[in-house]
Amino acid sequence: MKVLVAVKRVVDYNVKVRVKADNSGVDLANVKMSMNPFCEIAVEEAVRLKEKGIATEVIAVSVGPTAAQEQLRTALALGADRAVLVATDDELSSLAVAKALKAVVDKEQPQLVILGKQAIDSDNNQTGQMLAALTGYAQGTFASKVEIDGGNARVTREIDGGLQTVSLKLPAIVTTDLRLNEPRYATLPNIMKAKKKPLETLAPADLGVSTASTNSIVKVEAPAARGAGIKVGSVAELVEKLKNEAKVI
Ligand code: AMP
Repeated sequence: MKVLVAVKRVVDYNVKVRVKADNSGVDLANVKMSMNPFCEIAVEEAVRLKEKGIATEVIAVSVGPTAAQEQLRTALALGADRAVLVATDDELSSLAVAKALKAVVDKEQPQLVILGKQAIDSDNNQTGQMLAALTGYAQGTFASKVEIDGGNARVTREIDGGLQTVSLKLPAIVTTDLRLNEPRYATLPNIMKAKKKPLETLAPADLGVSTASTNSIVKVEAPAARGAGIKVGSVAELVEKLKNEAKVI
């Protein structure tokens, strides 16, 4: 069974993001970029399926700039067999990414596509769902457990206040939640080996798609800076302020 994993290049989760002075977006100059953490979980799950003998091939795919090759090489170092970059410098909307991924799905015919539930930069939480709609495949989102049983995937989903288990007929789309697994670190020998693994670069036009966006970002603003605290003189004053100023009691 072929497994396709979608990997996004994002600002590293440890970086404190800065908004550009003209509010047009986030400043990416000299900022550390990494694989989206939920995509790391997706790669880990695919590699574990391969280690269990369920997956025969794991293909990592990214849509984005040439620099996203770095994140694909990381996926290869973590255990993916080969990688595909759909290279574009366009500002990407989820729909554009989902259409490009759909074209890769049509070409590769995987039985399972694993995506992160959310990219930590845009917080869209919709690419997997859009890909499911475009392909017509069943979807199991926010997965905390995935079991493959013949022609079905049994996915335990984290929902408000509990867990839901769904059975999906393969081929299917799964998006990963935080508790699905704990991703491994790439070892140095595997980082070296990854350099020799195949990484194919395609233009969107090679797949017959366009990544031009139909929406644009109007404005990005940083959250309001936190005001300084104050010292109160007594419990009575604290209660008065909580009641009448903060209005929380
Ligand atoms: P989002 O819907 O943007 O929050 O992203 C959810 C997931 O979709 C990510 O964790 C990735 O698995 C996948 N994804 C989003 N954008 C891209 C991209 N440019 N290239 C590859 N995968 C992506």
